[in-house]
Amino acid sequence: MIHRIRSSSRKARVAVVTAIFTCVIGLIASIIFTAVVRMKDDANNIDDARAGRAVTSAIRSFQARLGSTVRDNAVWDDAYTKIGSPDGAAWAYENWGKTTEDYPLYDVAIVLTPTRNVLNAYNKGAAFDPARFFGNSLFELAKRASLSGQRGVTAFVPTADGIYLVAAGAIQPYITSPSMQNFSTLFFAKLLTPEVVEQLDETFDIGGLKLVASPDREGLSIPLLGDSGRSVAYLQWPSRMPGNLTFNAVYKSLLVAGVLFVSFLMAIVATAIAVVRGLHRDALSARFKATHDSLTGLMNRAGLLDGIKASRSMQGDGFALALVDLDGFKEVNDAWGHAIGDQLIKLVAGRMKETLPQTQIICRLGGDEFAFLGATKAIEESSGALIRALHEPFRIGGRTIEVGASIGISPYSSDVSDGYELLRRADMALYEAKESGRGRVVSYLASLDVQRLHRAEMEDKLRRAIENGEVRPAFQPLVDAKTGSLRGVEALARWVPETGPISPEVFIAVAERAGLIDELGRQILEISVETASSWDDVGLSVNLSPVQLRNPDFAALVQSVLEMRGFDPYRLTLEVTEGVLMSNPEQAKRTIARLKSIGVKFALDDFGCGYASIGALREFGFDRMKIDRSLVTALQDSKGAGILNATLSLAKALEIPVTAEGVETQEQADSLAESGCDQLQGYLVGRPMSAQEIEEIFLRVAA
Ligand code: C2E
Ligand code: MG
Ligand code: MG
Repeated sequence: MIHRIRSSSRKARVAVVTAIFTCVIGLIASIIFTAVVRMKDDANNIDDARAGRAVTSAIRSFQARLGSTVRDNAVWDDAYTKIGSPDGAAWAYENWGKTTEDYPLYDVAIVLTPTRNVLNAYNKGAAFDPARFFGNSLFELAKRASLSGQRGVTAFVPTADGIYLVAAGAIQPYITSPSMQNFSTLFFAKLLTPEVVEQLDETFDIGGLKLVASPDREGLSIPLLGDSGRSVAYLQWPSRMPGNLTFNAVYKSLLVAGVLFVSFLMAIVATAIAVVRGLHRDALSARFKATHDSLTGLMNRAGLLDGIKASRSMQGDGFALALVDLDGFKEVNDAWGHAIGDQLIKLVAGRMKETLPQTQIICRLGGDEFAFLGATKAIEESSGALIRALHEPFRIGGRTIEVGASIGISPYSSDVSDGYELLRRADMALYEAKESGRGRVVSYLASLDVQRLHRAEMEDKLRRAIENGEVRPAFQPLVDAKTGSLRGVEALARWVPETGPISPEVFIAVAERAGLIDELGRQILEISVETASSWDDVGLSVNLSPVQLRNPDFAALVQSVLEMRGFDPYRLTLEVTEGVLMSNPEQAKRTIARLKSIGVKFALDDFGCGYASIGALREFGFDRMKIDRSLVTALQDSKGAGILNATLSLAKALEIPVTAEGVETQEQADSLAESGCDQLQGYLVGRPMSAQEIEEIFLRVAA
């Protein structure tokens, strides 16, 4: 849940960053694009303005040229004199009218008398009626010319043939006097033919200049003004739009650069997103690995501690932790190997998932230890169901494997400081469940802590007792079943603290648990060997804990003890229980083989009370079998006698001699001797006793 929230907020952050990034890219792109468009428009406008100025100059120079031509001809002493004379019309024809025929500067020449009558009018060499042709404009211009002194005036005039530039000047001498008024007027007019317009176009480098009545919207234009100051036509030309040309030329490069730029940035964004995602995935997988067990995929100890923390904040004190330990898993591992052990662990995990409600968190803490966490009541109910479920056989590769489970429950309460304390309590309850007979569910109680304290005290006491040599052997006689003569003695550890004797059944287990068994075993062996070394021909049996046999240095230790005391190895028998067949049998086998090679014998102790197999008996090469007291006691009923006889025939078949333990009555002794036991041990013959008692009771008799 927390992960999902974190990952969605991370996604939102990535989305916001990407959006900002995209906006910034968009903004940069639009600024660049706007600047380019602006440059394009500016270039167009600058060129349009230039063209406008050029066309204006063209018109002005056209007007100026015709204006100065008319002035040069009008302000002329001869002209003034001749026009006023009777053959003025002929003179005007000779000088101007005739010229119109093929003169490039003007097409029309007109002379109006001071009274505005037509003296003379020629268009392209032919006489014509100017008043009809040019209309009122002619007289308006004449009026303006008369008012403008020696300067010519011009105006564009529309006619049936087209637009004319008409220039007018008052015909006068160079030097005029105020008395001179009412001059005749000279007009020159030039028709704006397409050729004329084209020439203007070329001269001023405009391109596409045209004369039009009214300009269309797309082109650029300048009005041609008539005598009244109103436009009579327009010169129009298309905008060259150099900006567009440049823009079009660089547009593709810009586009490619833009696409490259955007792709590059997008690639950076995509890479960044991929890197962030990768890191996120790595973090998730590292977190998963840190909190999960690789074999089963269940949560591990770290995951469980997280789960406890979360449960504390969410459920308050209504939850509990249950620890599960498989009974007999070690044996499975030792017997079938780790691959089968791993498969079993997976199957157990699967069965736990099937059995426990989905609301409970299931974990594997390591080895064969599991845990589950949930509401207290549900945990208690589930525990029983889980014990039953795990008791059902598992099938692995054609094998049927049976294990069981013990469960310790620790309900959370306000005095639990943290997850470690909850685990410790559950562990204590689990220990108790295993101690009190497997396949049980035990809930934590404060009294368990007291017991644990006692155990710790006991361990402490035992440690000190071993250090002070207070644990010593007693010796129990082993006699010939037929003759009753002493064959050997079994050394049995004795510890009698001030509070009274403690059974080896109890303190041997404590020593094993507390790691004191090697030292204890060494002391018992040394004292026994030393004591028995003076008893010629008497065998010595010493008990071994499976833990000792697992120690690779054990064989060397036994050998050095025997050598130091000069004790014949053939006189020593080491008794081991079937527990040794279960844990690390390979190491035990090596130790047994090494000691057997120097003559030490091995006896399988307490046979018949467990489930040691006949195969194992042969495999380990035991030299003797000691049948358990429970089999001897059971002799009194027929069923028990049957079992005992079957066991003895088996030993006979394997050619292994048998010692009967716990023989308390003569009947038992007789029947055992009859059935084939060659050695007897029990209170009937003698209780475990001191070395001195052995010497007094048995050795003197023997002697
Ligand atoms: P064990 O090796 O089977 O020893 C025989 C046990 O049966 C002894 O108990 C002995 O006192 C008892 N016993 C013998 N005859 C009779 C009888 O006729 N009736 C009854 N009721 N009991 C009889 P103990 O001495 O209490 O030892 C118990 C177990 O502790 C031993 O069983 C052995 O497994 C273990 N043990 C004793 N000493 C040592 C030791 O030095 N090292 C190790 N590793 N284990 C030891
Ligand atoms: Mg024994
Ligand atoms: Mg025994």
